[in-house]
Amino acid sequence: MSHTKQKKHITPASNETLLTLLETLPGALFLLDDDATIVYANAHAQAMIGATRDDVCGKPLWRGAPQLVSTSLYQAVQKAKQTRESTEVEYISPGTNSWLHAWLSPTNEGLSIFFQEYLEPRSPQNAFSRNEHMYRDLLESFSDGVTILTPEGLVLDINQRPLADAHLQREEVIGKPFADSPAWSHDPAVQQQLRAAIARASRGETVRFEARIHPRSDLSLDILMTITSHRDTSQQVEYLICAGRDITERKRIEDELRTLVDAIPHFVWIARPDGHVIYNNQRLIDYLAIPREQVEGDSWIATVHPDDQQRVWDVWQTAIQRGVPYEVEHRMQDGISGAYRWFLVRGMPQRNAEGTILHWIGTCTDIDKQKQAEQRIKASEENLRVLAETVPQLVWTTRPDGRLDYCNQRYCEYTHATFEQLQGYGWRQFLHPEDVERSLALRHHTLATGEPFECEHRLRNGQAGEYRWFLARAMPVRDETGQIVKWFGTNTDIEEQKRTEEALRQSQERIRALIDSNIIGITSNEGEEEVLVDANDAFLHMTGYTREDLNSRTLSRMKITPPEHAPLFQRVLQEVATHGQHTPMETELVCKDGSRLPILAGAVTFQDHPRQMIGFVLDNSARKELEQRKDDFISMASHELRSPLTALKMHTSLLRRQLAMQGFQTSAPALSSMETQINKVTRLVEELLDVSKIQAGRLEYRQETVDLDALLREIADTMQQTHPSHSILVRGAVQANLMADRDRLGQVFTNLISNAIKYSPGAETVEMDLEASPETVTIRVRDHGLGIPREQRDKIFERFYRVTGPKQKAIPGLGMGLYIVAEIVKRHGGTITVESAVGKGSIFTVTLPKKRDTLD
Ligand code: ADP
Repeated sequence: MSHTKQKKHITPASNETLLTLLETLPGALFLLDDDATIVYANAHAQAMIGATRDDVCGKPLWRGAPQLVSTSLYQAVQKAKQTRESTEVEYISPGTNSWLHAWLSPTNEGLSIFFQEYLEPRSPQNAFSRNEHMYRDLLESFSDGVTILTPEGLVLDINQRPLADAHLQREEVIGKPFADSPAWSHDPAVQQQLRAAIARASRGETVRFEARIHPRSDLSLDILMTITSHRDTSQQVEYLICAGRDITERKRIEDELRTLVDAIPHFVWIARPDGHVIYNNQRLIDYLAIPREQVEGDSWIATVHPDDQQRVWDVWQTAIQRGVPYEVEHRMQDGISGAYRWFLVRGMPQRNAEGTILHWIGTCTDIDKQKQAEQRIKASEENLRVLAETVPQLVWTTRPDGRLDYCNQRYCEYTHATFEQLQGYGWRQFLHPEDVERSLALRHHTLATGEPFECEHRLRNGQAGEYRWFLARAMPVRDETGQIVKWFGTNTDIEEQKRTEEALRQSQERIRALIDSNIIGITSNEGEEEVLVDANDAFLHMTGYTREDLNSRTLSRMKITPPEHAPLFQRVLQEVATHGQHTPMETELVCKDGSRLPILAGAVTFQDHPRQMIGFVLDNSARKELEQRKDDFISMASHELRSPLTALKMHTSLLRRQLAMQGFQTSAPALSSMETQINKVTRLVEELLDVSKIQAGRLEYRQETVDLDALLREIADTMQQTHPSHSILVRGAVQANLMADRDRLGQVFTNLISNAIKYSPGAETVEMDLEASPETVTIRVRDHGLGIPREQRDKIFERFYRVTGPKQKAIPGLGMGLYIVAEIVKRHGGTITVESAVGKGSIFTVTLPKKRDTLD
């Protein structure tokens, strides 16, 4: 069609007669040019369409006379134009619902159409009329909006639905481009979409698309447009049928669904039956952080962890091929952080009624935490297993019902059984028959209550056959709901412990027996004051104190110790503080009635309780009494012996004088020997007397000025005369006069020289070295004899003590000399010490102060 073409109008002036004729015709006449543009409309025609000639002329028929337009008319026009032959068409007028009969005749310049209106069809074939009615009814009965278009897109027919939506009259749209209707022109993109669809449909394609249209400013509709073409007999596209289905509601539901799907905390995807992914919800897209199209199709596999890809792909392909549910765990990359997280991916095929798969709907659930927890559990289980295999205990676990479902290697080794033999209740065969009832009853109780289990029982060593004691313990392991899922237990070998406990029990029993016995008094003292806080009956019995006295906490150690023993007691305390105990000592206790009780006492403290002291007290009175009696006897005996000895001595010297006078010279040696023996006995008796005096504290001392040098030389001379076997050498001098008891000092050195000679039988000399300092004099008596073993050196100064060696025993003596010597030196304010080497000799060193006012 050419728009530049000059339109020719037939004017009344040019052809008046013809025009008059046309005007008087009994029907409506339209003359059209080649483009179907109206060039003439007679009066009837104007009346029929309710418009003036000026209104309609120059407009295409479809626009100018929309009331008359129908698809049949359009078809007829097209046919007439093509064939250049007259044709006629009959149809129901869409505007008036009356029958229209149109005669179409090609003219030189175009086409003439003559319309006549009837109430009934002119050609009364029933089938035809029925078809026409059906066509119209059908058109209106569609819930869809149906529009018939020319291949160019002009509206030929339209049903009420779209007109009603747009509040338009039929005439307002007929003959106009469909794409220019307000519903479509509102949005240029949508308009363009429609135009493109019409263009494709006009080439014979069936086009389907969805669009949002706006029939009115206040109404928007989602429609699914389907445009199909109708071809004529020569297969030319004759007209287009557009069916617009209102899918607003579906869209709304879909949108809602999509919003919902996007909102749910899962990732959702949809795939075609062939596995091609067509949809991923927003959440999934957000996680992957890549454009939507990059996850569609099969490209999603790229987001799967490389290590998982092959596995996932295989499972997915199998699911698609077999149509079975898809379920796989894999890692998927977080597009933002780049990290991979674990997901449980599930897909279900959606089938129609026939069972054909329509699509797959799937979800991805983030199970990373679970996975991590699982891995942690796995790791911790592994740790647990390693631990269970490493610890020295027998480790086991049971199910909630108490059946053993795990035990470590050690358990198997101990029982010499396999796990299969031990599992369930198999382990019970190793339980000691005597322990079965007690242990199982306790176990049932803990299984029922969920309380931790603890029990001592014996288990048989499978190899040796012997039973050992074990401490069995079990703790319930609960899940997050508090349900017991298993019991975790251990058996610890406590055989040694048991034995120790038994030994301890026995020793405790013994101690108890000791405490309860009447033999030894046991006390417990506490604190600075050494207050007696406890004592056994034996102690109370010994001392007369009562439990009330103890409870009153007034019995301090001070109170029950005699004042003169206090210094001794202080020393003992010190010894206890440093050594934790003290050597047993003889002392006395002040009894409740004020009497003194001789005791042998010892004490210990415990490391844990250094302030608490346990004392052991033995009644020593019997021994003391015996000793006293012995002392009394010695004292008495020495006294009793002295008088006859004195008489003997006197008579001997009388006899000597008488015999000398009578000239019996031959008796002299016998007499001398008698005298020597008498002197020996006298000396022994003297010594005995001295000892008993010392014991009784009654040894007396004189105070006189003693020239020590002279005294020592005199002693040395005398001793030399009586002991010619040894040379007695005196070296040096002290050059001092001491205030002392001359005889007693003489006794000291006589004794030391005498011992030196006596205990060095093979030696030749005994040396005496004298020296002095401004304050003291020192006298050393040295021999080259037997010497004294180290451990006995202190003891030789004790009363009656003699060194125990066989050589020493062969030498006569009573062990009194050094006791007396030490006492005399001490009373002179001096000290005596001994140095010695066994087999080489000894040195006794006496040191005396030069100046002393009084003797002690
Ligand atoms: P005793 O009468 O036994 O000699 P003492 O009291 O004098 O008694 O001496 C005690 C003990 O000391 C003696 O038995 C002796 O074993 C030992 N003893 C004393 N002096 C010496 C010495 N010079 N060499 C070796 N042993 C000695």
